[in-house]
Amino acid sequence: MKKVELKNVSKSYDSKTDVIKEISAVIEPGEFFVLVGPSGCGKSTMLRMIAGLEDVTGGELVIGGKTANALPPSKRDLSMVFQNYALYPHLSVEENITFGLHTKKIKKAEQKQRCLEAAEMLGLSDLLKRKPRQLSGGQRQRVALARAIVTHAPICLMDEPLSNLDAKLRAKMRSEIRQIQRKLGITMIYVTHDQTEAMTMADTMMILNNGEIQQIGRPLEIYNNP
Ligand code: ADP
Ligand code: ADP
Repeated sequence: MKKVELKNVSKSYDSKTDVIKEISAVIEPGEFFVLVGPSGCGKSTMLRMIAGLEDVTGGELVIGGKTANALPPSKRDLSMVFQNYALYPHLSVEENITFGLHTKKIKKAEQKQRCLEAAEMLGLSDLLKRKPRQLSGGQRQRVALARAIVTHAPICLMDEPLSNLDAKLRAKMRSEIRQIQRKLGITMIYVTHDQTEAMTMADTMMILNNGEIQQIGRPLEIYNNP
């Protein structure tokens, strides 16, 4: 399994102000790691750098023991779930779930098998022929999760995946995501601005403030030493 290491990682968009300031941390294989903090503190930027969607402008990002600063997103062996789900409206649920597998030369039968497994895990088995517009918000969110799971990537990144859901559904999905992550044994790097979400889901949480680590540790340690 792959460790993710941040070594004095910085980011500036305009080469003047650093929105991420020399952050160092280790994300252990199989752990549920939460990046939390107020809007604008740099959570998305950090996640997008790990994903390879933004350049690292200082320091080193190491994935699985190898420098990843210049590695293209497709070579990082990770999946990503976005806040707005990013589903294709003209494709069925099944086609949406397997979309990312086409470029990976995975055989049709294997794609089908993975899709059925992920759909089962997320309670989507009866919805595979539907289009996204025929789904509730919660169901769309599940499709986005299934699409990440079928890649079998050892690392999964999620950026505020529950923020468009109502409070009740959010609470239910928190524990489902946690269960699935444990069952699959994948590393999760999860962004939220919601303290409760961070406290209830994290093995390790990193509280970011203005691009710097304010606190990092297990939720109980942080709760007891605010
Ligand atoms: P968060 O995800 O915690 O809300 P972001 O990572 O989106 O924070 O943003 C961190 C800081 O970087 C903010 O000050 C934001 O305005 C700035 N920022 C984010 N994306 C860009 C961009 N593409 N160009 C310039 N500044 C950006
Ligand atoms: P979020 O808070 O969910 O990350 P935002 O609305 O802050 O979403 O950002 C949406 C997009 O706009 C992101 O791609 C981000 O990089 C970009 N962005 C954010 N802040 C700025 C900024 N100050 N200048 C340019 N682009 C920005």
